[in-house]
Amino acid sequence: MDHFLYRDGVLHAEDVPVPEIAAAVGTPFYVYSTATLTRHFKLFDEALAGMDHLVCFAMKSLSNQAVLKTLADAGAGMDVVSVGEYLRAKAVGVPGDKIVFSGVGKTAEEMKVALQGGIRQFNVESEPEMEVLSAVATGLGREAPITIRVNPNVDAKTHAKIATGKSENKFGIPISRARAVYAHAAALPGLKIVGIDVHIGSQLTELAPFEAAYQKVAELTEQLRADGHEIIRLDLGGGLGIPYARNNEAPPLPTDYGAMVQRTLGHLGCEIEIEPGRLISGNAGILVSKVIYLKEGEDRQFLILDAAMNDLIRPAMYDAYHDIIAVNQGDAGAEPATYDVVGPVCESGDTFAKGRAMDRVGPDDLVAFRSAGAYGAVMSSEYNSRPMIPEVLVHEDQFAVIRARPTYEEMIARDTLPEWLVSD
Ligand SMILES: *Cc1c(COP(=O)(O)O)cnc(C)c1O
Repeated sequence: MDHFLYRDGVLHAEDVPVPEIAAAVGTPFYVYSTATLTRHFKLFDEALAGMDHLVCFAMKSLSNQAVLKTLADAGAGMDVVSVGEYLRAKAVGVPGDKIVFSGVGKTAEEMKVALQGGIRQFNVESEPEMEVLSAVATGLGREAPITIRVNPNVDAKTHAKIATGKSENKFGIPISRARAVYAHAAALPGLKIVGIDVHIGSQLTELAPFEAAYQKVAELTEQLRADGHEIIRLDLGGGLGIPYARNNEAPPLPTDYGAMVQRTLGHLGCEIEIEPGRLISGNAGILVSKVIYLKEGEDRQFLILDAAMNDLIRPAMYDAYHDIIAVNQGDAGAEPATYDVVGPVCESGDTFAKGRAMDRVGPDDLVAFRSAGAYGAVMSSEYNSRPMIPEVLVHEDQFAVIRARPTYEEMIARDTLPEWLVSD
């Protein structure tokens, strides 16, 4: 559930009419709902209430600092995958002991910044990484708390580009080698083993793959404890999916997920960490765009929008589906229409939907892409020299620009000409 609803035929973000935001900031733009963000965070927090736990928002899904502050104020920790994300989280006051550092390619420099600034734990993904972390921590005279990410070799049944828990994926160490790798970690100076980490993929629509992975983690916990390691924390990753289409079957809810975690892992007495991204941010955001042209093709109609693949790449990259709706239902006409919905970018991949039955709209009408909060703005670029689009945060009847659209001058001024090209 989210807070983007029609009132008197006009789409609102909480209590703010979307056309009002469009008039203030121009199109296209992203708009996020505070109430949806905090509601989704709280659902997870409450789902794990029976266990010692921390919900760390996977900020790669939506990393605007206003969003991070909103969630941090509600009690969230952060899951970061780069030192840039680490510094963003710190910039809004998230304490180091609520930040976990994930990712397969952490550099020594990134490790150093996180160790000096404070970190809850590193989720280590390989033996070479473990050795570098050991050296960095020892050099600083510190101890790095670690979990080791295990790859449980389960099929997450999701899109290939976002499945991470099979042996063919680059992530983690094979679970079959875990005992040897933990023994290696225990022998290295500067590392303190605190637990186990697992993350099998994104946009999972069933609980079964999670459950299969967590059962393997439960067995491994007992084995590692028998080997003499102190396993006090289990990081279970993120990955719970959201319904992108209104008529789709709803994926499991955080409450079902929490009950399953309790059932499979509750008896171990570990502190539980989870790293949801999409389920917190996905339905908390929409992308609003304006129709530029309606173009008649030979056998189809093209709806040409002012938003493009550089603003929202998910359809081009993951074949993702987003509901596209008219902002003013009055514009929508009586009969639905069928369009190929496209952007202005010069490649055919710049297609949001083909043969989509949707509200009938025309030039200058506003449309909204639903469920665009996660992996939307963060994956955008300035391809085709289209400036990054603004982000807006709504809180009840207020809204604020939380990242401004750069001017063309600002965008162009980012390049510099080398001396040999500057003529006098
Ligand atoms: C991407 C990622 C997440 C978040 O995934 P969602 O599907 O957005 O919940 C969590 N943990 C790790 C390690 C990730 O790479």
